[in-house]
Amino acid sequence: RAKSAGGNRFELADPEADARAITRHGLTTALPAALDRGEFFIEYQPLVHLGDGSVRGAEALVRWLHPQHGVLGPDRFIPLAEHTGLIVPLGRWVMEQSVRQAREWRERHGDGSSGPLRINVNLSPCQLGHPGLVQDTVDILERAGVTPDALCLEVTESALIGADDDLLKPLRRLADMGVDIALDDFGTGYSNLANLRRLPVSVLKLDRSFTQGMQQFPADPVDLKIVEGIVALAHSLDLAVTVEGVETGAQAEQLRILGCDTAQGWYYARPGPPDRLHELALADATG
Ligand code: C2E
Ligand code: MG
Ligand code: MG
Ligand code: MG
Repeated sequence: RAKSAGGNRFELADPEADARAITRHGLTTALPAALDRGEFFIEYQPLVHLGDGSVRGAEALVRWLHPQHGVLGPDRFIPLAEHTGLIVPLGRWVMEQSVRQAREWRERHGDGSSGPLRINVNLSPCQLGHPGLVQDTVDILERAGVTPDALCLEVTESALIGADDDLLKPLRRLADMGVDIALDDFGTGYSNLANLRRLPVSVLKLDRSFTQGMQQFPADPVDLKIVEGIVALAHSLDLAVTVEGVETGAQAEQLRILGCDTAQGWYYARPGPPDRLHELALADATG
């Protein structure tokens, strides 16, 4: 983007933009070594059943403990990793760690009353287009010794908009094996709802913007109608609905009444270390 001479001259005139570009460049070049040095770590955020409050699993969210900049969130480095292709080995690492974690939770909890815990892992569009995806996933599940139903892959709606069959094929194969596929950030991508039938997804993750509309009680009637409609459509297509960004009890209650299945958000727990999920699942098993 800033490759032309004109672009460089422009950046020098804006020291802040220049500093940002330098940081971006610095972070990009530091990424491969960071993976080798083990500077990435994963936080897990519980997914809670809205009907009975039980913990059903967690979403894996990657962070980078940068030696100079401290903890960096994924929004700071995932786009850079996608740009350089490092997202493929990084994403594989996240999946491997997360699936092992899921095995450990399953060992410690058995099947519980609400079924075995599951791990959700985000997949970037670059990983989706990478030819090794299916085999890598199969290998990771085998090495961890868990069944495919331990894993749910989250793909954003925007990544699948207009996706041709070549892009959907690996997802279909994974879905046929028993891996769940979730459509992440649903409702932000203006996708054709009829298109949903074509996608091998079993979960819709309703974007945080909908949850924000539920902050007042009662919520805006139009917001309620929209969510109600999406839930009805999803359920009629046999899709489960997860809501993200639930920050208050009022939101949780309205989303439950609207028929959403599971929820995720600060109201239940912030993303945290794996033992935290274990404690939450235990607390919930013992009442
Ligand atoms: P996402 O998949 O939509 O994940 C949900 C984001 O919402 C997370 O941000 C989470 O920390 C945040 N969140 C959860 N509950 C609440 C809440 O109640 N209120 C608010 N305001 N936010 C909440 P995070 O961890 O910064 O991740 C941002 C995005 O980075 C993720 O969005 C996902 O798209 C991407 N990402 C994270 N980990 C990975 C990864 O391993 N691979 C790839 N490709 N992308 C990842
Ligand atoms: Mg996600
Ligand atoms: Mg999301
Ligand atoms: Mg999101």
